[in-house]
Amino acid sequence: MTGCPVTPSGSPILEMARRAAEYRAEGRRIIDLTLGEPDFAPPVHAVRAAQEAAARPLGYAPANGIPELRRAARRAVERDRALSYSDAEVAVGCGAKQVIFNAFFATLGPGDEVIIPAPYWASYPDLVRLCGAVPVIVPCSADSGFRLAPDALEAALTARTRWVVLNAPGNPSGATYSHDTLTGLAEVLRRHPSAMILSDEIYAHIGYAEGEYFSIAQVAPDLRERILLVDGVSKAYAMTGWRVGWGFGPAELVRRITAVQTQNCTQTATVSQIAAAAALEGPQGILAERCGTYRRRRDAALAILRQSRHLDTVEPDGAFYLLPRLASGDDLAAADTLLEAGCATVPGSAFGAPGHLRLSFATDLATLEEGCRIIVATLDGTP
Ligand code: PLP
Repeated sequence: MTGCPVTPSGSPILEMARRAAEYRAEGRRIIDLTLGEPDFAPPVHAVRAAQEAAARPLGYAPANGIPELRRAARRAVERDRALSYSDAEVAVGCGAKQVIFNAFFATLGPGDEVIIPAPYWASYPDLVRLCGAVPVIVPCSADSGFRLAPDALEAALTARTRWVVLNAPGNPSGATYSHDTLTGLAEVLRRHPSAMILSDEIYAHIGYAEGEYFSIAQVAPDLRERILLVDGVSKAYAMTGWRVGWGFGPAELVRRITAVQTQNCTQTATVSQIAAAAALEGPQGILAERCGTYRRRRDAALAILRQSRHLDTVEPDGAFYLLPRLASGDDLAAADTLLEAGCATVPGSAFGAPGHLRLSFATDLATLEEGCRIIVATLDGTP
């Protein structure tokens, strides 16, 4: 068959989750640390707004989002990141993923390049390939905190580069960028005016670092016309299944994104958009509260994993993943062995980080600790 330039093997994350579910169905106890899915309920005011809306007739809505959600998203980014966008500069889609796809589809052609720092969210390279373009992977080592360095960016940029992907806090590394590093990256990007910048900030509300969180859009306001800042309700508000995300960018790009959206799925469900607007406009206390919970889990997991002679784990600044490096270097074998021992993880190879494992701590503390103990005992060969 021709037509689709992505491998039909599907997501390695879902594959591990599927194998874990299969073992469970056989009656085996498996701790599942694979999925990046918050284990919290959505905010009650979001659910209530959806319930009320669902009882009314809801017809088709604008492809780039209902006005209430576009307004709520703009207010939220102003409140949280002191960034101000006009109504023409925001596009809503079925999750951050669709906004990214639409942006790539609207701008990429055959042979165009997209720079993706590794470790990366496993979808970026496939989204690029789906648009007929070429993912250019730039490895970022654990020693650099899994961050893209300005000189590595400079070396990867070519005349064909159409996008540079920045994702912070990163999936799967949890790394964020300091003001200084973003300033350095912006300096490089100024010398390459044909490259757009995708700033994927879907985990921006899940951060543990002492200092302030910075977006490249804040650090380099002069690059505003080249930045697409992407966010959504999936992670911060535990609303993955509601499928609402948005992007802020130049009006011309937003127009193109909307054109793709219109012929793709028309719009994301109106009831979900109403719920998302309520999540953004309602009380925000759960964000800090949940961050505290994630931080306790991160610290507990790190304390166990660091007992192992076979693992070296960088402390993540944000998101809800750990990316321990395996002394053995063989992540595929380790993930298999650990699954047999009762703990499902994802091999780092799925994220451009061979030799590492990704563990999600979006799971309750007791389960997480049990999973980490299985990992340490199995790798260290202790009962
Ligand atoms: N960006 C990153 C880095 C992610 O990890 C994910 C989901 O795992 C997404 C985007 C997709 O988010 P959404 O559910 O809004 O499509």
